[in-house]
Amino acid sequence: MSLVIEELAVSVDGNQILESVSLEVGSGEVHALMGPNGSGKSTLSNALMGRPGYRITSGTVSIDGTDLLALNTAERAAAGLFLAMQHPTEVPGVLLVDVLSASLAGGEGLDEAVRAELEAINLDESFLERPLNLDLSGGEKKRNETLQLALLKPKYAILDEIDSGLDVDGLRLVSRRIEQATNDDGLGVLAITHFTRLLTELKADKVHILAKGRIAETGGAELADELEETGYARWVGEPEADEPVAADPFADPFA
Ligand code: ADP
Ligand code: MG
Repeated sequence: MSLVIEELAVSVDGNQILESVSLEVGSGEVHALMGPNGSGKSTLSNALMGRPGYRITSGTVSIDGTDLLALNTAERAAAGLFLAMQHPTEVPGVLLVDVLSASLAGGEGLDEAVRAELEAINLDESFLERPLNLDLSGGEKKRNETLQLALLKPKYAILDEIDSGLDVDGLRLVSRRIEQATNDDGLGVLAITHFTRLLTELKADKVHILAKGRIAETGGAELADELEETGYARWVGEPEADEPVAADPFADPFA
């Protein structure tokens, strides 16, 4: 069982952002996807989920053998694909509790499950009665995405910078909860991140580097460590003056 991406090419507004991306995420596996700003990581996420405006110009994607690209977004979700968005959309007028009960229609013991998941990521119950993502802090939005992931129990989850905006405690709880889903439910994860911190609890089986529209290199967890040391120069040439390599906000300033 796996999510298989083969030679995927994606254009946005007539610009070819991805040239040929191939990777395979098996059930229960964690793959980290790293790459410089603007390399197309979010473009890949959006294209996989079927977001309008992201045009797949060639390639194939299958989810447990089913042609993902033949499905609309709702059907992709029903087939088991979940996207935790880099910038979760604010939806005024739609309460989180309504989103959850609609997506988990008829679920037995829902209240109990929701309470347990809120506790696991330390999110207050009052968030259930707030409009989806509206005026939430960055970290609250990421906890909210994790809550939905935990309750929906997808087969594969794309996490687009789930670590951005989370405080240290939130990061630990969120990454631990997702790691647990890979073990308990066989969740396969494609985790887009800039920092190895996420991967201390959520153990990556493989690390991929996206550069110049393709997977430039694949390795183990040590590749992420190397990257934090050296930046992306090896894969993209010299960093551009207007696009410095992101500094690690968790780095020890006295190291
Ligand atoms: P990453 O997530 O790796 O930082 P993105 O996928 O967000 O990169 O962006 C890749 C490139 O595609 C960037 O140059 C970005 O400006 C462009 N791009 C992405 N989405 C759009 C869009 N909706 N309209 C125009 N350009 C876009
Ligand atoms: Mg992005």
